[in-house]
Amino acid sequence: MVQYYLPVGMRYSTLEERKQFYTSEFILQAVAEWFRNWRGKVRFAVIIGRHTKIYPEKYKEDASITIVIDEYSSLEDVRQEILEFLPEAVYYDRSVYDAKGAKTGQELAFDLDPENITCPIHGTLADKMKRNQGLSFCELELQMVRQESIGLYEFLTSHFDELKVVYSGRGFHIHVLDPQAYALSTQERLKLAQQVKKEGFHIDEWVTAGEMRLIRLPYSLNGLVSRIALPLERSELENFDAIHDKRVLPRFIDSKPVF
Ligand SMILES: [Zn+2]
Repeated sequence: MVQYYLPVGMRYSTLEERKQFYTSEFILQAVAEWFRNWRGKVRFAVIIGRHTKIYPEKYKEDASITIVIDEYSSLEDVRQEILEFLPEAVYYDRSVYDAKGAKTGQELAFDLDPENITCPIHGTLADKMKRNQGLSFCELELQMVRQESIGLYEFLTSHFDELKVVYSGRGFHIHVLDPQAYALSTQERLKLAQQVKKEGFHIDEWVTAGEMRLIRLPYSLNGLVSRIALPLERSELENFDAIHDKRVLPRFIDSKPVF
């Protein structure tokens, strides 16, 4: 078995790099645009160092927990909170809440990750888990998951009108913005997830069913691979190259000739 970990050029971000990114590269305007039609106050969340074990010393005890950021008055406040925690990952809660905090709906999403792909070289997720490589993936898996995302996008267009695809740093997320999708019950979501799996797509059922409410925030830094989560046009998916595309490379990676 060939030893593998991540595609060339992908690696954990350091605390200093996270700080650099959220200080000067994180585009709040783009984040605001993403939530333009959101029907409530967005709840953000961070995980400081659950997978990377990289965290500011003072947050050692809280490095693996999910910290919710919901008391803020502007996105600049959110950015300041992120700079305080310097997290490996930033998410938002897909559930929509009214002013009293009651849930009124949830954004529907599909999560396709490369580790779920059965690779001709590295095997199934179970094989990878056995070797403690559950979070590893290779370039081939990345290409395969991109192809699957194109297929799932096409499949979903027969059910929904407003789809957005986001490169997550690992795989891809497809967000469904149709109003009727927000109103789906847990049962309906589960049914849809099972239908999609039956079609052969390797999605994370938890995300679609809604139990896993958090999803990576577009335009944030994925600190496990040092890539920026980026919304893509459907037409860009065919040729999208996560290893080299400048738009997903934070400056601290782009400025170094690592590959
Ligand atoms: Zn592989």
